[in-house]
Amino acid sequence: MRIESVAIIGAGTMGNGIAYATALGGYRVTLYDVAPEFVQRGIERIHQNLAEGVARKKLDAAAADDAKERIHATCELAAAAQCDLIIEAAPEQLELKRQLFGQLDAHAPASAIFASNTSSLSISVMASATQRADRFVGLHFFNPAHLMPLVEIVRGDATSAETVNAAAAFVARLKKTAVLCKDTPAFIVNRVARPFYGEALRLLGEGAADAATLDALMESIGFKMGPFRLMDLIGLDVNFAVTQSVYNAFFQDPKYRPHPIQRQMVESGWLGRKTGRGFYSYE
Ligand code: NAD
Repeated sequence: MRIESVAIIGAGTMGNGIAYATALGGYRVTLYDVAPEFVQRGIERIHQNLAEGVARKKLDAAAADDAKERIHATCELAAAAQCDLIIEAAPEQLELKRQLFGQLDAHAPASAIFASNTSSLSISVMASATQRADRFVGLHFFNPAHLMPLVEIVRGDATSAETVNAAAAFVARLKKTAVLCKDTPAFIVNRVARPFYGEALRLLGEGAADAATLDALMESIGFKMGPFRLMDLIGLDVNFAVTQSVYNAFFQDPKYRPHPIQRQMVESGWLGRKTGRGFYSYE
């Protein structure tokens, strides 16, 4: 299971960060999105992040240039599928992901490994949309993916040991740290984080304090980001989708119930940094 070439499906917040890390890891990268402007925005973001890495002396300029050379953009799914490893970073919707993997399965080489960057959905259920459930694994990167060192490797019910080993070798080559997880709703980190967002939203809804005060309090005791700043970074739409997915996966356990504030903000298009407005303004 030798991996030389990697396709990233979805060039949004996570996809472009994963593409950045993968290109710096020395792999050939094909970045796919559904429309040229989305894939172009992803490429621009990668170039910005590489330039920032060089300016901060975290990267040398030659390594950044080589990484740029290794990334190719496409809007052709069949072309993107011609890789050894295909990492999906499309919206957090089970049916969309299952359809996407079904299409990729028809085009990709039989030997290719499929991975999903899902935050909460079942790897086994997604794998069942393909003929390669043994070569299907979760590779859950964290935001911002070009900087965060942790990757959860999620073993589905049918994932083979060889696939897990190939995923672990891939993560190691990106100089990131892998943690092996079972295929449970939201795996480990996002599961633990659900009450962090949920209780903060309830406090806000009850008028206990405003978002900035709640964030400042959490940051004062050592959290790098308070819950509202973090939701703005993640994207309110993504965070809401994950909350709903976990809530439903546990048969509407009230512990994971989403909050009306989340839905209202998503429906108003206040998605956080990516739309310039969330709990904070980024104009
Ligand atoms: P995003 O909205 O920033 O990007 C999603 C991208 O997918 C967009 O560029 C969109 O054009 C593209 N897309 C839409 N339909 C598609 C299709 N049919 N095929 C391919 N691409 C399509 O979302 P994101 O934050 O990058 O999240 C992507 C995945 O990563 C989700 O499963 C999410 O749960 C997971 N994730 C997100 C975070 C986070 O903090 N945002 C962290 C870890 C994992």
